[in-house]
Amino acid sequence: MPQKLYEGKAKILYTTDNPEVLLTHFKDDATAFNAQKKGQITRKGEINCAIASQLFKYLENQGISTHFIAQTAPDQMQVAAVKIIPLEVVVRNIAAGSFVKRTGIATGTTLKSAIVEFFYKNDDLGDPLFTEDHIQLLELATPDQVIELRQMALTINQHLQKFFSDRHLTLVDFKLEFGCDQSGNILLADEISPDTCRLWDDLTADPTQKILDKDRFRQDLGNVAAAYEEVLARVMSQN
Ligand code: UDP
Repeated sequence: MPQKLYEGKAKILYTTDNPEVLLTHFKDDATAFNAQKKGQITRKGEINCAIASQLFKYLENQGISTHFIAQTAPDQMQVAAVKIIPLEVVVRNIAAGSFVKRTGIATGTTLKSAIVEFFYKNDDLGDPLFTEDHIQLLELATPDQVIELRQMALTINQHLQKFFSDRHLTLVDFKLEFGCDQSGNILLADEISPDTCRLWDDLTADPTQKILDKDRFRQDLGNVAAAYEEVLARVMSQN
């Protein structure tokens, strides 16, 4: 019988009969600002599961190793069991969010080249920005793994930028998580969805209407579910 292994803010992880396989259930619950803001987005679980499944399949076809095995229900995904590396790997193409606050660079500024940031996955500490020295000190990943994570994140960025731009979406920034399988291979894990990416609609110039991601929820911009539905429609389209 499947047992609940872990419940996070947006997903629940269950065991299966096979110790190498886990089941992810995507929830409609939405949180922001380290869970200080809580709510629900209609159909988010199913939408994010479908988007993430499609993106994992696309990335696998581009040669990226991911934990994705299969979408087994509208809000359920079978994944390979991995040991999650406790880092949030953020890639940025355009200045937004915490990067703007930290650097003073104006929101919407295109960066000369994509940058990668590492945050320590630790709710008690509020997921602080970590340098490579911090990562080594806390032994979160080896120096070689950090090099690999950075390279994988930048390669994934190139593939996702193309995928989204073909669908008239600009990939502003996004967060990835990685895990190690039993052989020590690094796999892309967690999810890729409007919860974890900033996506701006190329088909409108209106700065508020452009936003099709969790910033609508964070900033109380309204039409949150409609934005997620729009991203799903674009992701599923053959462009
Ligand atoms: N992000 C995420 N989970 C987090 C923090 C950030 O998925 O716990 C995503 C976020 O949606 C955005 C990118 O990572 O696409 C960069 O987020 P940022 O550091 O700007 O933080 P925020 O402004 O969201 O607090």
